[in-house]
Amino acid sequence: WFTGYRYESSAAASDSSSQAPPPAEKFEYQAEVSRLMDLIVNSLYSNKEVFLRELISNASDALDKLRYLSVTNPELSKDAADLDIRIYADKENGVITLTDSGIGMTRQELVDCLGTIAQSGTAKFLKALKDNKDAGGDSNLIGQFGVGFYSAFLVADRVTVSTKSPKSDKQYVWEGEEGSSSYTIKEETDPQLIIPRGTRITLHLKPDDKGFADPERVQKLVKNYSQFVSFPIYTWQEKG
Ligand code: ADP
Ligand code: MG
Repeated sequence: WFTGYRYESSAAASDSSSQAPPPAEKFEYQAEVSRLMDLIVNSLYSNKEVFLRELISNASDALDKLRYLSVTNPELSKDAADLDIRIYADKENGVITLTDSGIGMTRQELVDCLGTIAQSGTAKFLKALKDNKDAGGDSNLIGQFGVGFYSAFLVADRVTVSTKSPKSDKQYVWEGEEGSSSYTIKEETDPQLIIPRGTRITLHLKPDDKGFADPERVQKLVKNYSQFVSFPIYTWQEKG
């Protein structure tokens, strides 16, 4: 696998734990990822709402992994017993936050999972898109293949993924912007944002898509697309 490369190093930061945290490091996406993101944004613009199904499906997978591993290693779920998905819709700021208490990602996993298309679902989708260019249109393919994490950029121009794996004692933040060929990773340092385990994804919605940050709309989408998810999904909002 090609796992991207870093071109800003923070080598000096490792022995300065009492000082300021290391700065964000910048990474280039694998070339196929940039291509995929263009493809998704250009071919699925009339099916934007699939982003929620994709992110919930990833959250559900992460919870499944944690539950599975906890059978042989109960330690894994001690910090947060509840396995659930929480979706917060902030209408005023046009932000959707999706939190799961699943397996999370290490720093290296962030690079491998959100910087490359090593995983099979998306690679298959890409190939099918290519093979099917003139047969039936792209939207038919959406039902058959998960288009994956990058579908977040259908509605968001900036996405942050703050995540804590039981394998790591640190929580990391991945951040990407639509149309950019690079992303950054840094340590989570805001004490208010520290989670015991799992992943929090924040979607800063595009100006035209802020309407998705509506709890009722979110609930409707959850009902339509994700009714077979085997973990509770809570949607909430600030009291008006
Ligand atoms: P797929 O789900 O088909 O593997 P995605 O693009 O949806 O592809 O996700 C890529 C990878 O990123 C996943 O396989 C998983 O390893 C990782 N990932 C995405 N979301 C989460 C999450 N909420 N928790 C843990 N890992 C995640
Ligand atoms: Mg997925």
